[in-house]
Amino acid sequence: MSFSRRTLLSATAGGLVATAATAHAQNLQPQRGPGYGGADNGPRDLMRDGQNPDILNPPKTDHGTLPNLKFSFSDSHVRQGTGGWTRQVTARELPASTDIAGVNMRLNAGGIRELHWHKEVEWSYMINGNARITAIDQDGNNFVEDVAAGDLWYFPSGIPHSIQGLGPDGCEFLLIFDDPHFDEDSTFLISDWFKHVPPDVLAKNFGVSADLFAKLPDPDDLYIFKAPVPGPVAGDKLRGPKAVSQTFKHQMTAQPPLRTKSGTVRITDSKNFPVSTHIAAALVEVEPGAMRELHWHNNAGEWQYYLQGQGRMGVFASSGQARTFDFRAGDVGVVPFAMGHYIENTGNETLRFLEVFKSSFYADLSLNQWMALTPPELLQDHLKLDQRVLDALQKDKHAIVPA
Ligand code: MN
Ligand code: MN
Repeated sequence: MSFSRRTLLSATAGGLVATAATAHAQNLQPQRGPGYGGADNGPRDLMRDGQNPDILNPPKTDHGTLPNLKFSFSDSHVRQGTGGWTRQVTARELPASTDIAGVNMRLNAGGIRELHWHKEVEWSYMINGNARITAIDQDGNNFVEDVAAGDLWYFPSGIPHSIQGLGPDGCEFLLIFDDPHFDEDSTFLISDWFKHVPPDVLAKNFGVSADLFAKLPDPDDLYIFKAPVPGPVAGDKLRGPKAVSQTFKHQMTAQPPLRTKSGTVRITDSKNFPVSTHIAAALVEVEPGAMRELHWHNNAGEWQYYLQGQGRMGVFASSGQARTFDFRAGDVGVVPFAMGHYIENTGNETLRFLEVFKSSFYADLSLNQWMALTPPELLQDHLKLDQRVLDALQKDKHAIVPA
């Protein structure tokens, strides 16, 4: 055995010992307590185990075979263009999502998401930076606006639109579509259509000569492509005689939040963003140690995007089934329709996430409020709770606890 090979082997053995010790120190073994589980000495991914403590050591209350309710954008294929990148989490990645698909996109300064349309409605939350969005409607009304971090946009089905990153550093945003089987590679692109119409038909359509269409771009070079940063929005607003009757833009973070002692909630649906008839959403902030209370939704399944921090969600599925998932910024979570759940901040910074629903309105039911508004004798016939629990019940809804 050569010196270098011996050195390598001893280093590897030392590494394994250190790894096992680290795993033990952080309770990264699947042993939730004395008499349960055992060490994992086999092949393993310690970083992922560390990120999923409630998968490795589920709470004793978890039970049964709930499907996976989590997917990270970090595990999604990244499609790169000359103007930025995009990746998607759809029913192909997360089959438990039966209402919604999501896309996370970056446009560099000047980068354009090509003029296009699609069958699905498009709802978007601007995560950081600035963009210019354009559209028209079926009556020839015009729409051009700049959007900033915390703003939303909504394009109804089939409405043609574009998105362009602005200075100084472009933007990143989340796109939501009201079909879990949406595919960002299956949108109607302006360059793709031009490429698939005979030049004489183009000539007839536009009333010009066919040779003007001799040099059309390859659609593969567009989709997300590089362009100069446009001038001020005022110059772009002069194209049409009138604006769309219902704006496609909404400033979500400018809304005054519902506030408790330990967090905030901002709700946007068709009541305050009238054009958004197919998507409702809540932007939720939960302080360290606090929790989005036990609740459920009676209108639709929930699709979540984690913007900041880390947390865990427990989901109750009836039939004695329950499962707990850990989340961090960049993850997607799903709560199937009507299942009970809570989301606890398990980190040291504010947990921020979006709850998105395929619905014209936001709705939730609070376990606490339900119990507070039920005759106490009836409640006690069921649960036989200590009087102090009954005294603590709240007739008002408090989305984030402690309230
Ligand atoms: Mn689109
Ligand atoms: Mn919820």
